[in-house]
Amino acid sequence: MATANIRGITYSDLESFLMGLGEKRFRAEQIFRWIHRPIQTFDEMTDVNKKLRQQFTEFFNLDLPALKTVQISRDGTRKYLFLTQDDQSFEAVYIPEVASGSNTHTLCVSSQTGCSVGCSFCFTASIRHYRNLSAAEIIGQVHVAMMDIAKAGAGSIKNIVFMGMGEPLLNYDQVLTACRILIDTRGLSFSPKRVTVSTAGIVPNLIRLGHDCPVQIALSLHAGSDEVRSQIVPINRKWGVTALIQALKNYPIRHKQKFIIEYVLLKGINDSVEEARRLAHLLRGVPCKINLLPLNAHERTAHQTPAHDVAVRFQNELRKAGYLVFVRTARGQDISAACGQLGGSHAKTQTPDTMHQEALLDVSVSINKGKESWPFAENKLLNVLP
Ligand code: SF4
Repeated sequence: MATANIRGITYSDLESFLMGLGEKRFRAEQIFRWIHRPIQTFDEMTDVNKKLRQQFTEFFNLDLPALKTVQISRDGTRKYLFLTQDDQSFEAVYIPEVASGSNTHTLCVSSQTGCSVGCSFCFTASIRHYRNLSAAEIIGQVHVAMMDIAKAGAGSIKNIVFMGMGEPLLNYDQVLTACRILIDTRGLSFSPKRVTVSTAGIVPNLIRLGHDCPVQIALSLHAGSDEVRSQIVPINRKWGVTALIQALKNYPIRHKQKFIIEYVLLKGINDSVEEARRLAHLLRGVPCKINLLPLNAHERTAHQTPAHDVAVRFQNELRKAGYLVFVRTARGQDISAACGQLGGSHAKTQTPDTMHQEALLDVSVSINKGKESWPFAENKLLNVLP
């Protein structure tokens, strides 16, 4: 009988399972804590009786995604390349905050093994064969990284960001389950303020997430107008900037919470003072801080990185309008671990001129109301790709 990966099970599901076995309620907390410690077999759960451990092996496994390589950047960033059992690869990146001396080390996790959104500056967008990751594969990235970091004496993870490969809100159920596991105080116990889901703007699922789980939201905006954003983020033609901003305004935001607005600066495309002014106008009334990320160049994009003074000019324009805005320094560039560079192991799967093609937009996209996930129709998508 095939077994389920217990790393992707929420506390309430584990509790229901144990109650079904006639176990006492306290067992759930005991076992949930074990699952999220660095163990690899049920026998390591030393205070759980042998009979129950045996029952677990009949229903569950503790498999981790296979770690193929760990690359370590000059700046201490660590990039993990994983391989799934069905031979798909994906990456996670650990970013220690060594320079500031702060203890805000971050793990950037993937939610898919490629991405259908097609942002024109992103390497992951060029990956043709991909699938959603399961909650167990998402949590597995955290467990493997924790074990590696502990062994290397390289700090500890304080933040989890869903900014790796894939659009998290196109893998809604598994990402939601993973978020619930991450913030559960009986297990990994990350603060909800320190778990960030980043989205290019899948509006219906963004609103759902606000009601389902109190995590932080980052919106990959990249423009202050539809005219510019539709050139960079094709999905903007489905949900334009007005719909995105309205979604943020309708979001059940917590007291003092701020949205993170991500903005990749692309030379000559979205880095003008005029676009900064449009952005400032667009974001009026949205509690947010803005991260400007000068493009991390790679061979799969025709875009170029703007000069530093252009980034500073853009930042100043937003500051004049009263926004909290930072120009972010790229991390792990020497190992292609920086934002927008993930997925290099798939380099052979698609040629550069096929990325970001119009065909993505011809896929009929419709919201299937009441269903668990938005059917972006990955199969249809594959059909229209060359
Ligand atoms: S930037 Fe994010 S949403 Fe856009 S293609 Fe890359 S992984 Fe997908």
